[in-house]
Amino acid sequence: MIHSSKTQRFDSDIRQNSESGQMKILVVEDEQKTGEYLKRGLTEAGFVVDWVQNGLDGQHLAKSEPYDLVILDVMLPDINGWQIIASLRESGITTPVLFLTAKDSVEDRVKGLERGADDYLIKPFAFTELLARVRTLLKRGTAASPSNTLQVADLILNLPSRQAVRSGQRIVLTNKEFSLLELLLRKQGEVLPRSLIASQVWDMNFDSDTNVIDVAIRRLRSKIDDPYDIKLIHTVRGMGYKLEAIDA
Ligand code: CA
Repeated sequence: MIHSSKTQRFDSDIRQNSESGQMKILVVEDEQKTGEYLKRGLTEAGFVVDWVQNGLDGQHLAKSEPYDLVILDVMLPDINGWQIIASLRESGITTPVLFLTAKDSVEDRVKGLERGADDYLIKPFAFTELLARVRTLLKRGTAASPSNTLQVADLILNLPSRQAVRSGQRIVLTNKEFSLLELLLRKQGEVLPRSLIASQVWDMNFDSDTNVIDVAIRRLRSKIDDPYDIKLIHTVRGMGYKLEAIDA
């Protein structure tokens, strides 16, 4: 009873947020004054704001809750901002991240951008400047939100842009190869018979004489599997193909 009413309340909160179009921002900032200032300012600007004061809580929330943006301080009492963003990107979390840093060295900027930061703001900053950066990132961020991507191991497919990236490297695929890979990712762990692949990707009935699927799989493997240790596409003899990350 208690459990179900809790769940309902949670669901209606989410609905209210999406109906009112309010975006959720996570602020990870250990300094009391800056944190309060950000929370108050962003809330007044119409955002739903969660503020935490240490890195581990921030990392946990960013991985478990659907935020539209994370504002991340670099120097935190436990794990730092670099570690958090590396961990998020490794987990396939593509939420835009705006870094706040007191460090104004070129080296730090390069390090942050390499690890997947989307933008920077050097402390102290004006709130209007922060708000402008936040709005820009939110506009940009919608194209790469997690629901628009599919991932297995270190392979990420961006559906709107139809781009494939493995280990941070862009892989050029034909339209059919992308569709084939998308199907395999959507059904990962399941054995897909050739007949299913033929109907879904080629929109044709399977003819046992044609080896079009095997040829396409071979080409796809040469691009997404051959250069890497962990193999993703597997032949299930007599049955079809399956996508799964297996260390060779
Ligand atoms: Ca700090």
